[in-house]
Amino acid sequence: MHYKGGIIISGVIEVMDNKTDKTEKSITECDVLILGGGPAGLTAAIYAARAKLNSVVVDTGVVGGQVASTYQVANYPGTNGVIRGIDLVNNMKKQATEYGARIDDMQEIEKTVLLGDIKKVITKKNDYYARTVIIATGATPRKLNVEGEEKFTGKGVHYCATCDGAFYYDANVIVVGGGDAAVEEAVFLTRYAKKVFVVHRRDHFRATKSAQDELFKNPAVEVLFNTEVKAINGTDFVTGVTLFNNKTNAIYEMPIDGIFIYIGTQPQSELFKGQVETDEYGYIITDDNLQTSVKGVFAAGDVRKKAIRQITTAVSDGTVAAIMAERYLAALGS
Ligand code: NAP
Repeated sequence: MHYKGGIIISGVIEVMDNKTDKTEKSITECDVLILGGGPAGLTAAIYAARAKLNSVVVDTGVVGGQVASTYQVANYPGTNGVIRGIDLVNNMKKQATEYGARIDDMQEIEKTVLLGDIKKVITKKNDYYARTVIIATGATPRKLNVEGEEKFTGKGVHYCATCDGAFYYDANVIVVGGGDAAVEEAVFLTRYAKKVFVVHRRDHFRATKSAQDELFKNPAVEVLFNTEVKAINGTDFVTGVTLFNNKTNAIYEMPIDGIFIYIGTQPQSELFKGQVETDEYGYIITDDNLQTSVKGVFAAGDVRKKAIRQITTAVSDGTVAAIMAERYLAALGS
């Protein structure tokens, strides 16, 4: 293969439907193809591009990952705890492109072929051929899977307080979950909402103590422990929820204007199913060098099976994966 700076080096015309429909596709060849443009992917791009490897980041949406919709990141070192999530990832993106990485966003990935010396990733617009792949596709919000959730998504059911919280000025909302995300975002929502009820199925939170302290001292927050959401009700828009108290077995209706669901995430690893080894939840299994079960394929960030999912650990993963990809290529002798 001949590499020319990770840019499009040839174009092909793909003829569909026996002559009539023509879709122009591009072919991209690169050293390192990074799937996913969150902190893990962008960090991998910074390291790989800086090592003079032809590096391309492919993202199905706009790069940034989950942190792009986080209002403020308080615990990222070196930022004084006041940086907006979107600014943090925009800085990473700028750094990656300035070192020479290419970023292809809004790519609909149709297929991946990871086995073999040359890895292939097919999107609607491009065919990518890469010598190494770093999977950094992250994770998406987990669903409650209760009646009304799908119907009212975007109409009272939300998964991002930063994106949609402002719609609930002077309103009553509930936040579901007991981890850091639920507890922190509940406090964030008090900027807008009159009252924020945190509904959690256990009698204690798993969020860090500092986050809980902030929550409990906020007068606009009320916590409903041992409580589960059984249904989300409304007509065109959410008007209430059906709650179940798992201690008293009471079932009751609660009028509410909106519901923010923060019950964890699930890995975006469907595209690699059957190709790389995963755990029972779909998180990709790697070794200490972030090598997956397939030679030349690494995984970094939230998509990977690991104990702690933070921006800092995603960035750390991106670093390790890129350096290991570089060593893998060096060992191939080209
Ligand atoms: P998480 O820590 O996995 O917590 C998920 C919460 O949702 C748990 O309380 C869990 O309940 C509950 N839950 C799960 N499935 C549920 C269901 N079907 N119905 C009702 N409740 C359900 O997820 P997260 O809060 O999104 O955090 C993910 C990771 O990001 C964590 O490692 C967290 O520390 C990190 N994070 C860090 C920060 C920060 O440092 N500033 C901010 C946000 C997130 P149980 O407790 O009963 O299992």
